[in-house]
Amino acid sequence: MSGSNKKIIDEKEISILVEKSLKETENFSEIETTKKDYLEKGGIISSLFQQISQEKDQERKKEIEEKLKEQKPEKEQKKDKLDIYLEGKRFPLGNLHPLTQISQEIYGVFLPLGYQIVESDEIENEEYNFNKLNMPPEHSARGMHDTFYLNANLLLRTHTSNTQIRVLENNPNQELKIITAGKVYRRDEDDATHTHQFTQIEGFVVGCNISFSHLKGTLELVLKKLFGENNPIRFRPSYFPFTEPSVEVDALCILCQGKGCNICKKTGWVEILGAGLIHPQVLKNCGYDNQKFTGFAFGLGVERLLMIKHGIEDIRHFYLNDVRFLKQFRVMS
Ligand SMILES: [Zn+2]
Repeated sequence: MSGSNKKIIDEKEISILVEKSLKETENFSEIETTKKDYLEKGGIISSLFQQISQEKDQERKKEIEEKLKEQKPEKEQKKDKLDIYLEGKRFPLGNLHPLTQISQEIYGVFLPLGYQIVESDEIENEEYNFNKLNMPPEHSARGMHDTFYLNANLLLRTHTSNTQIRVLENNPNQELKIITAGKVYRRDEDDATHTHQFTQIEGFVVGCNISFSHLKGTLELVLKKLFGENNPIRFRPSYFPFTEPSVEVDALCILCQGKGCNICKKTGWVEILGAGLIHPQVLKNCGYDNQKFTGFAFGLGVERLLMIKHGIEDIRHFYLNDVRFLKQFRVMS
């Protein structure tokens, strides 16, 4: 018996062949050869088992395919049936950006006080962004280092105060209460606390006998709404070219309650806004009678306000559109 016959042998034939081979053997060494042919590794029996298992695999595959064929039409029929008890698909809803939310919240404080919302262009000229606000060409804030110039005269506004000038100029000697919000631009390198674009909210009131106490009362009311009734605030003297006198307003750090943390730079206080009485020269520049009319103005950075309120350590989160960040500001309705 030679190895070349192995593959054609099936289960029944094998016992006949074994018997025949044994009959033909004449001595012990031939019996040993027959044993080797049939039983050892690579011999007829092991090849047969291999062949059988391959055949069984094929049979199984066929069986499964048959079953799938039978099932398919049944399943397709089911697909067409309308199951009115199935829960509907829920599509994820977006929400207002946190910067829009806080702007609306602040508008909500001022509207009941009789303020009007006015918005103006982000592209402005030097006259309305600087000159009329008491910032002549030699003023340091006008250096190319922090303003995006579009050409010799046009620029991206560096603050929302251009709105103040335009509104005052269009309504000379009128009593006004205005609130505005919008994007402003500075040539800052982007890092954890600076961005080349940020959001400002600015308000101003002009009328007869408007004094510093009106400003103080207004700011106290707003900051109580934003930071809570009992959170202390403080006024510090400051300087801005377009207000006189000028102040900066700090709130007690709500994250550490004045103990000192990274957000308040270990001081316990955080600067919230700048404000002051509108400089008489600014009123005059806009056609107002500055002997009769006075006014106050204030402005604050919205990103900074949210960072302080929620302990956000990197301002760039507001612009990266990372849903994991934005989701935290979802308003449940
Ligand atoms: Zn703190």
